[in-house]
Amino acid sequence: MSSAVEKVIAGDVRTVARLIRDIDDKIPGVRDVLKALYAHTGKAYVIGITGAPGVGKSTLVDQMVNHYRKQGKSVGVLAVDPTSPFSGGAILGDRIRMQRHSLDDGVFIRSLATRGHFGGLSQSTRSAIDVLDAMGKDYIIVETVGVGQDEVDVVKSAQTTVIMVIPGMGDDIQAIKAGILEVGDIFVINKADREGADKTFNELRQMIDMGHNRYEEGKWKPPILKAEAVFDRGVTELLETIEKHRSHLFSESRGKTVRKKKERVREELAEMIKSRLIQEVLDRLLETGEFDGAVDAVAAGEKDPYTACDDLLLPKLRALK
Ligand code: GDP
Repeated sequence: MSSAVEKVIAGDVRTVARLIRDIDDKIPGVRDVLKALYAHTGKAYVIGITGAPGVGKSTLVDQMVNHYRKQGKSVGVLAVDPTSPFSGGAILGDRIRMQRHSLDDGVFIRSLATRGHFGGLSQSTRSAIDVLDAMGKDYIIVETVGVGQDEVDVVKSAQTTVIMVIPGMGDDIQAIKAGILEVGDIFVINKADREGADKTFNELRQMIDMGHNRYEEGKWKPPILKAEAVFDRGVTELLETIEKHRSHLFSESRGKTVRKKKERVREELAEMIKSRLIQEVLDRLLETGEFDGAVDAVAAGEKDPYTACDDLLLPKLRALK
């Protein structure tokens, strides 16, 4: 076993931090470490938290960490920002939060923001989750900014997904309906001290209840909770609801564990191949300037995009064989 692997398993914070940075930077050597670590994963419980900027995600996550620490549980936090070009703790909120828990070695907090141009963030997140899992964290909280497709992909790695909104977000709730509503296991209306929490509650309830075949008999019906994260109100209830969902998943999967596992592995592997392809092909085409050359040619009407795609892709695919 390489010393990096041993150190991660022993919980060495510096090794873990370096490994996560290398994952974010897509340093080729990390694959070998991840391969060896995989056998040590599968014990942590992964919670996804998502919602628009400013709804109070950082505040809530901070409170959750506090509660889990009081229960004697260790926690890893990954703040994923698909819009940020920065990584490795450069996100401001991250630094602020790290201060409060910086002396507590039961807590590990990092930001992730991939530098690749096209996707790959969900893959980096999954790998970082594996590292924190192998490190021995009981809970891993993955916080994502925003409500787009990237976030949907990222939260797929979570066992329980919490979606946060705030009162008076009527239009925004309509906007999140499309992609992210379906992946929500628990909804939290934060800033319930503000006017309009009941109205938002009713709107959300209606939307969730609206003929969604996922919510049939025996299935998990996503609860809507109210919270005031900044005053630590509603946090205990949230953690209790997460445990309920966890038990639900556990009882649901009994008897069909193998199938469930296969489903998850199928998804994981497809995701991994996709991200590897992007890395090997698209990133390289960008580096060499071939991609931009093709963009110019298509934009100038010298080539159709189908031909451009073939010209770019086929030589690379042949080289991969
Ligand atoms: P994020 O961008 O989703 O991570 O949001 P933050 O956690 O940074 O919170 C944004 C702002 O909302 C901060 O100023 C918080 O203090 C504030 N905030 C968080 N929770 C509550 C709450 O329950 N009530 C009120 N009134 N403000 C809150």
